[in-house]
Amino acid sequence: MANRKPLIAGNWKMNLTINEAVSLVNSVAEGIKDHQGMDVLVCPPFTALSAVKKALENTPICLGGQNMHWERAGAFTGEISGQMLTDVGCTHVILGHSERRLLFGESDEAVDRKISAAVKLGLTPILCVGETLAQRERGETLKILETQLTGSLAHSLKDKAIDPKLIVAYEPVWAIGTGKTASPHQAQEAHAFIRKWIRSNFGNQAAEAMRILYGGSVKPDNISELMAQQDIDGALVGGASLKADSFVGIIKNSQG
Ligand code: PEP
Repeated sequence: MANRKPLIAGNWKMNLTINEAVSLVNSVAEGIKDHQGMDVLVCPPFTALSAVKKALENTPICLGGQNMHWERAGAFTGEISGQMLTDVGCTHVILGHSERRLLFGESDEAVDRKISAAVKLGLTPILCVGETLAQRERGETLKILETQLTGSLAHSLKDKAIDPKLIVAYEPVWAIGTGKTASPHQAQEAHAFIRKWIRSNFGNQAAEAMRILYGGSVKPDNISELMAQQDIDGALVGGASLKADSFVGIIKNSQG
């Protein structure tokens, strides 16, 4: 890996009460207190953000949202704005997760609007892309990644500039929550393609600086071979981020 600081991010999805969330983050903070050299992020459900933010004081762990609306405020029942995320102390936001795309019909165009809004607010977007099993089996993986990148970064392409903080997460849909991890070779191939796409559209500096995370059934025992790949700069972790010992294990094992 080049000079990119690794990031291990936990996506808690629709899990944990406030008390459970605080207890988890306290245990994670304790577990990694002597561990430096990488960034750690947790993305709790909206209801727990405020309490988790408080629990994270005096720790290096960052806070992120799992989604946001592109408008700042208004008549959007059930939605949360980027401004609300910054207000509660978030620095990051996951955008375009495959569950949002597949279960809630989120389009590349919507993800693009959200990314633009997040960047304007100073939030670091984590843009998720990835193919389904059927798409992989049809040999369409790289084409799907290109389509998702082009659509979700349309504003950046138009402006010919990308937020240097933006993070991409390659998450093959068939590996999410299934226990099937992409092989290090499959993951590296996709990551290298994403970096090449960034290079050809935004230049070498942007491509070299960009952190590209792998997501899909990451566990303490498979993280080190993934992190050994040249273009894998960290992980977006779902299920295994809900238990302190496995999340801490992933963080510790990710540095070899
Ligand atoms: C995710 O949902 O972002 C994810 C990677 O989930 P899991 O680790 O459970 O596969």
